[in-house]
Amino acid sequence: MSTSGFRALPSVDKVLADPRIGDLLTTYDREAVVNLVRSRLEEARGLIRAGKSGPALDVLVESVRARALALWSPSLRPVINATGVIIHTNLGRAPLSREALDAIASVSRGYSTLEFDLASGQRGSRHAHVEHLLCQLTGAEAALAVNNNASAILLGLSALCKGKEVIVSRGEAVEIGGGFRIPDVLRQSGATLVEVGTTNRTYVADYEAAITENTAALLAVHSSNFRVVGFTHHPTLEELVELGKRTHIPVLYDIGSGCLLDTTAWGMAHEPTPQEGVAAGAAAVFFSGDKLLGGPQCGVATGRKDVIDQLKRHPLARAVRIDKLSLAALAATLLHYVKNEAADRIPVWRMISAPAKKLDRRARAWAAALGSAARVVDGESTVGGGSLPGETLPTRLVALSASNIEGGATEVAARLRRNDPPVIARIDEEMLLLDPRTVLPDEDKALLKAVRAALAS
Ligand SMILES: *Cc1c(COP(=O)(O)O)cnc(C)c1O
Repeated sequence: MSTSGFRALPSVDKVLADPRIGDLLTTYDREAVVNLVRSRLEEARGLIRAGKSGPALDVLVESVRARALALWSPSLRPVINATGVIIHTNLGRAPLSREALDAIASVSRGYSTLEFDLASGQRGSRHAHVEHLLCQLTGAEAALAVNNNASAILLGLSALCKGKEVIVSRGEAVEIGGGFRIPDVLRQSGATLVEVGTTNRTYVADYEAAITENTAALLAVHSSNFRVVGFTHHPTLEELVELGKRTHIPVLYDIGSGCLLDTTAWGMAHEPTPQEGVAAGAAAVFFSGDKLLGGPQCGVATGRKDVIDQLKRHPLARAVRIDKLSLAALAATLLHYVKNEAADRIPVWRMISAPAKKLDRRARAWAAALGSAARVVDGESTVGGGSLPGETLPTRLVALSASNIEGGATEVAARLRRNDPPVIARIDEEMLLLDPRTVLPDEDKALLKAVRAALAS
């Protein structure tokens, strides 16, 4: 340990007097900057104690600036999604339409009619802004939007099933992802899970045999993120509803994605829709707002008026209520469906319905702009986000060869993530792949600039 090493370290005041730090002091709180300087100096002393040499003033100043930038710039940032996964939960699920964004801005810049009835001048209902639209689109008698689908289900089970039994097929007592497990949510609501059938086969008779005077509901859960194939059987929703009618037990249906359009029109498997669940006679159908509905994070419960009324009255409804920004965006998104313009205006549907020719044209334009390292290949995009498991859409990809760069595709992908805005790509067999399907039209220029920079060695 050398005392001279310690003595060579600049004082806090000396670092603060550096003009590059002065720059920080004009923007940020003085005490916070001083604390940063102190902690960097403490680190430097640690190095010296370990027998290493302390940093020079320049190095210290730069490390303080880098730390300030890391701490005090937003970490929730926009990224360019070139993965081809349309509903990417880690990247924020559904991008919003222009109209939904405008709606958010217009109700949040100032005050709004969030809970105010203009006709009477009295208190109004937050639910009124979307309930009629949700009813019109799903055919339900009543509807309620809350924070997300998980909270809609928790609210539904708490309001309808607390202290009672809920019958679920063993193949549906599943984890949806991100720690959302049907058995845990049931327990949290105060209901008791009664599992019936086996993982691959469950019959109506299994549900019927499990019904007791303590049964509050039959719960059906759409297997949104996995598929059981082969020797399987599962009763249809209609069969469950028929059993429910006979035994006076409501059927609750967690459909996962709020897919209001017919996915077979784009060559994909059929994704169950809320309107089908309502038509089949489910007492309540639960779904997310930011999956195939293409709106903001929220959850929706639609169904029978007496059932939805119980949800609205439950104390948890206040705890999981939807905020005004999401409400504005949800209403604007629902209006796209009302006006029959969803496939043209809602980004996730624009991506799903992107014509093959257009994808090919875009991929070829990118490849041409990127030069010899790039070529266009066939590939697949996925819907993702717990919708249409295993379903893919044929696409055209730009494949980048990174063989001349040390670290290969992994290194180029890391460089792309460090870009501003970050670009998220896919790696497959040492190839870096870019899918035009999930890149918004106005992002092309930024994407190409980022890729060119990442490929420069
Ligand atoms: C996604 C999903 C959920 C959770 O919805 P969130 O809106 O993320 O809370 C619940 N159930 C199913 C079947 C899902 O697919």
